Parts: sequence; structure tokens; C-alpha cells
Amino acid sequence: MKFVVVGTSHFGYEAVQTILKQDETAEIHLYEAAEEASFMSCGAQSYLEDIAQELDELHFANNASYADQGIHMHAASKVIDLDTETKTITVETADGTTQQSYDKLLLSPGGYAPVPKFEGHDLEHVYTFRGREDAGVVKERMAQSKKAVVIGAGYIGVEVATAYTQAGIDTVLIDSFDHILPTYVDIELAEQLEAHAKEKNLDFHGNEKVQKLTGQDGKVTGVVTDKQEYEADTVVVAIGVRPDTDWLDGIIDLDDKGYVEINENMETSAPDVYAGGDATKVVNAATGKKTPIALATNARRQGIVAALHALGKDTVKMLPVAGTSALHVFDYTVVTTGISNINKDSYDGKVASAYVEEKVYPDFMRKPGKVYMKIYFDEDTHVILGAQFVSVHDVADAINAISIAINAKWTLEQLAMVDFYYQPNYDRPWHFVQVLAHQALGNTFGGADKILF
Ligand SMILES: Cc1cc2nc3c(=O)[nH]c(=O)nc-3n(C[C@H](O)[C@H](O)[C@H](O)COP(=O)(O)OP(=O)(O)OC[C@H]3O[C@@H](n4cnc5c(N)ncnc54)[C@H](O)[C@@H]3O)c2cc1C
Repeated sequence: MKFVVVGTSHFGYEAVQTILKQDETAEIHLYEAAEEASFMSCGAQSYLEDIAQELDELHFANNASYADQGIHMHAASKVIDLDTETKTITVETADGTTQQSYDKLLLSPGGYAPVPKFEGHDLEHVYTFRGREDAGVVKERMAQSKKAVVIGAGYIGVEVATAYTQAGIDTVLIDSFDHILPTYVDIELAEQLEAHAKEKNLDFHGNEKVQKLTGQDGKVTGVVTDKQEYEADTVVVAIGVRPDTDWLDGIIDLDDKGYVEINENMETSAPDVYAGGDATKVVNAATGKKTPIALATNARRQGIVAALHALGKDTVKMLPVAGTSALHVFDYTVVTTGISNINKDSYDGKVASAYVEEKVYPDFMRKPGKVYMKIYFDEDTHVILGAQFVSVHDVADAINAISIAINAKWTLEQLAMVDFYYQPNYDRPWHFVQVLAHQALGNTFGGADKILF
């Protein structure tokens, strides 16, 4: 059987590895528009921070490794058309166009970082931050930049702004929402992060809309918002992600925003054509509704599901997604899952929430500092719908417990009495996740809040 896979990022990688593990004789053609396959944007912040030393370190596979596996690797080859009747794709390379037939086609064109067409958007030193090329130029620019403005305080904007500030560059972070990381955390947690960012010299401005960029001699010199003007020799625009699917319009079903319509097997509207990754939507585990959640973790699981189904092994379906994410803002760990204030109205039911501050360790362990937490749940059934933690301590893994609880439709009562370990090196007699559930239930039992230490 001949498999053609378009895109070598998280979805494409998992799809070809799964096909090979199931059928080592499969003929696989892997197409990638970029020069080198499988760059991991998730590691790009570490490159800005001088942790990863080379961009090459951030590839989880490359052209040579795919070729070593016997895969027909077609790099610098952009797929520009699809004929679902003849089961053929058209590919554009530096040498012209070619065609390739398929038995099964797996598409993961992913997304791109949009830049609004405000005046000055095309000036020099205005960048986006997605993929290897962006990571290279945004890093290179750090050596010259004195004043940077990052537009968009989502996790990509925050990653760039944090790295630029740490490098001693005067950095302003702007968002049209009132607080930092608006699609990840609520205002109570954002306040902690904004205060911390300020201590570290990152200047955050919420409730401001960018109107234009100013420039001189073709180079950016400033950003004008509806409130004020900022000097800038470097601007990074990080306002979200859009599906890169224009070329599929009218060929397979897309929704009104360009996301490829898929089912739980990753099948598209055309026979033998599958899709996954940032070009598709997932079922939100809290609301049950389809929604875009651009995460590598989703693309990876979708790649496995699509490949198994294409192989005729209908053994795994794509599960609903809580959208579990982690990042650091200077010394703080930020983790979220499920719904938050910004999308709570998408839940068909009565939503309630509780905000709690709690110590992570007993006092005698001399590891001061709290975890700031918020939990969302159904007011009537107490089914858990979402949570957010922010702390100077590494509380990242605890959010996975909430992700499981959301997917399992657990209630606050179950989380409050769950079987978690206690050991002073790691937690208090009641783990902070349980304390969050106790407080959300009204704190009517137990003694978590009465412990001397
Ligand atoms: C800075 C940054 C940090 C991130 N950090 C995290 C993180 O920590 N955790 C996490 O879970 N997610 C993270 N993400 C999101 C994650 O990177 C994406 O969700 C994931 O990469 C999506 O994978 P994908 O397979 O849909 O393809 P994409 O990564 O979008 O890549 C698509 C690939 O297909 C190629 N392609 C596109 N169209 C064509 C075509 N027509 N022909 C041939 N090739 C084509 C592209 O060149 C590209 O290589 C981050 C994203 C960014 C930008």
C-alpha cells in the first residue's frame, strides 16, 4: 500500500512512525515544504534562552533520519493541489511541478502565524515566531535589539517576551485583552504573573489595540496603539494561529475558518484522505464541542489514530481534548486545562468556579511559596471542567491529574477524596489539588486548613 503524508511536524511524524511499526514494507512518501523536516517549535524558546545551542538540536527527525528508515523523503516540496477522484497530489519544487498518486493520503499542513495588515506590517524587523526560520531570525535579532514590542500575550508572545527581557532587551508586551495569557489563566492568576513580570522588567500593557507600526528607511521604529506609542527596533507579532488550508478549499470540506472537517478517525470528506494537527479541530473534553486547540500533543495522538485507521486497524479513536498546557513566565510555572473564564460560556450548563491559594510544602521543609489555583465545575453536578495553577514551584504535572479528571467526568467530591500520596519532600498531608476541591465544595470537612505547618 502506498501512503502519502503531507507535513513532517508532530502529526506527520507520528503517522509515518506508526505506519512503519505496523507494516515495514509500506511505501511511504513524506512531503515537506521546508528545506529540513520536523522542526519542533515547542523548543524554540529554549533556543532564544541559549539553552538549546543549535537549531539542528530542535528537530525530532530530519531528512536523513527519514531516508534511513526507508521513507521517500521529499523536502522543499510544497503540495499545492489534490485530486480526490484520481487520488493524486500535485507538488511544487524548485524544478517545477510533479504529481504523486496515493492509496491513502494523510494531511497535516498545520497553521501559520497571521499578521494583521495594519500600516507598517511589512517593515523590516517585524517577525512572527513559528517554525525554524522564524526561530533563527528572532534569535539573531536579539544581538542588535535594544527595544522590542511583542504583540499578543498568549503563550507564544509570552515565550518571546520572556526570552527578550531575560537577555536585557527593553521589552513591551501588548494585548487587547485586559490581562496576560488571557486564553490560559483568569485575572486572579494573571495578577501574580504580571507583578512577577514587572519585577523582571517585562512591561505588560493590557486593553490596548495596535493601530499601526511606524518606520524609517524601511525599518520598524515604533508601535502605535489606541492608547499610546512605543519605540521599537524589533516587533514580534504573536496573535494566534490560522489553518494553512487555502489550497484545499473546494476540494475537501473546510469550516468557515478554514479548519479541515474530520471525524474521530481523522477521516476527511474525501475517501482515503485523513487530516490532523493544527489544521483541524478537536472535541473539547469539557464542553463536548469541536474547537481549535493548537497543541503538539493533539497532533501526535491524531497522527497515530489516522495511521492506524488508514492501515485498516480501527483500534484507537481520538479522545476529547482538555487542552492541557504548560509554560514558564520567568520563575513561575503556569499550567492550565479545560475551560476558563474566556470560554466558559461555551459550556451548556451552569458553570461555577473557586479561587484558592495554598502552600505546596509543609513549613518545616523550608520551601516557601504558594500555588495560586482556580477550578471550574458544573454548579449542579460538580463535574470538573477546568483548572489553572500558577506557582514558583514546579506544579506542572499536577495539571495532568485534572486533565484525567475532566476526561473521566469526575466530580469535585471524587477529587477531594482521591488516593494521592503524602510525603513532606513533595506535598502536604492534603495535596494542593485536593485542597482546591475541598475549598470548591465549601470547605465543610477535613482539616487541611487547620494544620499548624
Ligand atoms: C513557539 C511555539 C511553541 C509551542 N510550544 C508548544 C508546547 O510547548 N507544547 C505543545 O503541545 N504545543 C506547542 N506548540 C504548538 C505546536 O507546535 C503545534 O500544535 C504543532 O506543531 C502542530 O503540528 P502539526 O502536525 O499540525 O503541524 P505544524 O507544526 O503546523 O507544521 C506543519 C508542517 O507541514 C508543512 N507544510 C504545510 N503545508 C504544506 C504543504 N502544502 N506541502 C508540504 N508541506 C507543508 C510545514 O512546512 C510544516 O513543517 C508551540 C507552537 C509554537 C509556534
